This record gives sequence, C-alpha cells and structure tokens, in this order.
Amino acid sequence: MSILKVARMGHPVLRQKCEPIDPKKIKGPDVQRLIRDMFETMAEYHGVGLAAPQVHQPVQLVIAGGEVDDEGRTKFRILINPEITVLDEDSTSGMYEGCLSLPGLTGWVERPDQIKVKAYDHTGKQIEFELEGYPAIVMQHECDHLQGILYTDRIEDMTKFSFDEEARRYLEPQLDEDEDDEEERGDE
Ligand code: ZN
Repeated sequence: MSILKVARMGHPVLRQKCEPIDPKKIKGPDVQRLIRDMFETMAEYHGVGLAAPQVHQPVQLVIAGGEVDDEGRTKFRILINPEITVLDEDSTSGMYEGCLSLPGLTGWVERPDQIKVKAYDHTGKQIEFELEGYPAIVMQHECDHLQGILYTDRIEDMTKFSFDEEARRYLEPQLDEDEDDEEERGDE
C-alpha cells in the first residue's frame, strides 16, 4: 500500500469529468490497489472521504464516510460509478465543508439532505441506498469531484469562505467548545 499525493485546487485533474470504471474490472488488481491506496491516503490526512481524481486518477471511484455503525465507529462506503438522485429538493442542510485538495480552508455550503445513491461496491455488486444529513453531504461532496466540481463552486456567500482557524474563531466559535463536532469537520 502507499500514501498517494493529493492534488490541490488548481490542478487540472480536479476539474475534469471522470471516466466510469468497467464493472468487470472492479475486482481486478488495478482497481483494488487504488482502493487500498486511497484508504491509506485518506487515513494519513484524516479525511472523511476521498475521490479518485484527488489522487490524480480521473475515474469514478469515491470513498465516503460520515455514517456510523452500531458501535459508533465511522463507516466508509466505497462506490464506483455512483449516481445520486435528490429525494427532496426543498430539504437542505448547510455546514462548513473542508477538502483535502484545499488544505486549511473551509466554506459554508448548502446541499439537499436526502438523497438516493446507486453505484457498484468494491466487489462489483450493484447497490442502492438512501442517505440523510451529514453522510448525504459527504457523499455529494465526493461525487461532485467526479464531475470536476469543488465545494467552492457551491458557496453562495463568499464571506463564509475562510481559513479553518479564522472560521473556528469568528464564524463558528461554538465548534471550539464542542470537541464532539471535531470529527464532523474532517476534510473531504
Ligand atoms: Zn473534496
């Protein structure tokens, strides 16, 4: 396994539309190695999600966290060729998002908070499930990467685009008091 270099905003790989992966190749060594390397890279940088173009691979593969299992541990989903359907256009939620491709920065983004996801998993099986709230936000952030979209494209109020430290101090000071929210601010 290896820790991969993360592309930063400005690199063209983050702005291209990613190619779908042939489902027959999901179980093959190349895709499986990419999945392992992406996990290792995400863990190294404390991400809650990672999309393949962020490690210079313009293919439709994402890892997305945000859900917790019965024991309270973060659960990560590996998705290939994901398709998102918004279930309720009127129901949105916002948060300060971060991204491993924009280190040290954060911005307030509103997104639909109920979605349906259709994709292949890491074994090549077709899966479909619904997400709500924080995991739905993480998933949309990751899937945006596959279309060459960064969260900065979705910030409506640029006064809410900030360095992390200043956001904690001036824009969202309650986060400093509540360590439990720390995990929710992981970069994607
Ligand atoms: Zn990101």
